[in-house]
Amino acid sequence: MTTFVELGLIEPLCHAVSAEGYEVATPIQEKAIPIVLAGRDVLGVAQTGTGKTAAFALPILQRLTEDKRRAGPKGVRALILTPTRELAQQIGKCFATYGVHLRLKRTVITGGVGMQPQIQSLQAGCDIVVATPGRILDLAMRGHVRLDGVETFVLDEADRMLDMGFIHDVKKIAALLPAERLTLLFSATMPVAVSSLAGGLLRNHERIEVTPQSTTVERIEQRVMFVSKDKKRDLLLDILRGGKVTRAIVFARTKHGANRLAEQLVKSGVKAEAIHGNKSQGARQRALADFHSGRVSTLVATDIAARGIDVDGISHVINFDLPNEPESYVHRIGRTARAGAEGIALSFCDADEIAYLKAIEKVIRQPVPADETHRFHSEAIAHLRLGPAVKPKGRPGNSSRPAGGSRGNGRPGGARRAA
Ligand code: AMP
Repeated sequence: MTTFVELGLIEPLCHAVSAEGYEVATPIQEKAIPIVLAGRDVLGVAQTGTGKTAAFALPILQRLTEDKRRAGPKGVRALILTPTRELAQQIGKCFATYGVHLRLKRTVITGGVGMQPQIQSLQAGCDIVVATPGRILDLAMRGHVRLDGVETFVLDEADRMLDMGFIHDVKKIAALLPAERLTLLFSATMPVAVSSLAGGLLRNHERIEVTPQSTTVERIEQRVMFVSKDKKRDLLLDILRGGKVTRAIVFARTKHGANRLAEQLVKSGVKAEAIHGNKSQGARQRALADFHSGRVSTLVATDIAARGIDVDGISHVINFDLPNEPESYVHRIGRTARAGAEGIALSFCDADEIAYLKAIEKVIRQPVPADETHRFHSEAIAHLRLGPAVKPKGRPGNSSRPAGGSRGNGRPGGARRAA
């Protein structure tokens, strides 16, 4: 937990965020603010909702204040490009709120409104311009705004910008900027087009990434599978052999359990390895390298050992044992769906793990739909889920069986209800 004072922000900014009720910085703010204050380019993989706006707005406001340069006529010191008018307005408001105690001139420039007031607001020069690409480019081409003095350039939601077809405008705008500048590029996902755009815009940048828990959880297709303890291994083999799994992490609760499971999988012909705290650093690195290269398709891990696993392309996270700490569930399933990809998280739940499942659903604030189609499904265990603690208030007899492939059904205890 880091406060804004600890991040090196000046008093007027700390005062403003404190008035907004922000007590500590969010992870993206913790990472980005010191880098921007130090004057380095940033590639930020982060979504809306992570506190991304303050992560760039606060250090930009500080830099503009500390460096007392003035924008010349029609000049701009910080240019923030964002794909939609709504976002531009929202970001403009954030700058107003955080910069309330500072004397900086700012404006929002978007399409859909008259040009004349915008031309006037740009006339004497602006410290901060938040804009959508089309209109600002138009104004620049007509000579109403000069971008050759921009000190800081922010490209927000770069992936959406490309999806919406703004790539050419963005490139044209970038060509008007001075080479000597600070550039911050944010994107929720990192498809190749965004990486190559970033490559052309950023210089010697720092990459930072945050995976907002709720949004990550939303992107992951989650299923709980009710199965008795003694059938878990067979169920796992069915899944691993089913042809859909390209790369999986299987979570076990104990080191011993992870070892034993990996051995059994290998005996059954699955290319698996265990990774846990009792293994030497060398053995863990080898296992990870094998997993990276694809020589090993299944890694059996404990929670602690999995902390350092940073591998893209994990198609499945399988909770062979449900974690007894619900937060671990979020960390575990976040191993899939990295960098914007989608992923699948399957959780085996036996009769003794129902309470863990309920605790998890409370933390993620959504029910985990049940997959009852597998051949080891236990109706008896599924019924346990409908115990009093999570009994839904709906009419009795309502079936809430999840439709094939659908996401959560919006009701706690999302499994089929007993008639
Ligand atoms: P953003 O990701 O920039 O859209 O921010 C999402 C929401 O988080 C906004 O409503 C912000 O006001 C809020 N927010 C940003 N930073 C913090 C913080 N450090 N503490 C509490 N709320 C914050």
